[in-house]
Amino acid sequence: MNRFFLRAAAAPLLLALCMLNAHAQPGHPHVHGQVKLDVAIDVRAITIHVDSPLDSIVGFERAPRTDAERKTAQQALAQLRAAGKLFTIDPAAGCTLSQVDLDAPTLGLGKAPPVQAPGHGDLEGNIVFECRSPVQARYVDVGLFDAFSAIRQIDVQIATPDGQYQRTLKRPSARLTWGRQ
Ligand SMILES: [Zn+2]
Repeated sequence: MNRFFLRAAAAPLLLALCMLNAHAQPGHPHVHGQVKLDVAIDVRAITIHVDSPLDSIVGFERAPRTDAERKTAQQALAQLRAAGKLFTIDPAAGCTLSQVDLDAPTLGLGKAPPVQAPGHGDLEGNIVFECRSPVQARYVDVGLFDAFSAIRQIDVQIATPDGQYQRTLKRPSARLTWGRQ
């Protein structure tokens, strides 16, 4: 029996366990392939918080076991740290990347692990852009689909001084817009 078969057979069960966990414990069940973004547009900065299943970024949710897996993880983290390439903000806002904090306890990165659904792991990132005029931004081009082939959907909450917006990006659509166009 090969690993792919095992994976396919286990998927519905894992999904069911995730849904049970949503009610049973304060964990943080997630759906593989779905990433959450929170975008906050403030007076001086645009902050993007990324919350992804680790599987959707590196292809596994445990500590790397082989050199190839360690390399995959390092490359993925390097792509996230270069967040100015992953997120292209409308130049009207005059933004430059200021800070990237990544948290992936399964990879030994960041703070102590929160309670998670058993066998799962998350990656969270907090990305800060300092901007001349954040409210001038009308779009952000999100490069996550290009960078990480396992991501299928990105659910986004956007908080601006004018109000809050919810958006869903599905492959291949990568431009996030809100408010007046
Ligand atoms: Zn998972």
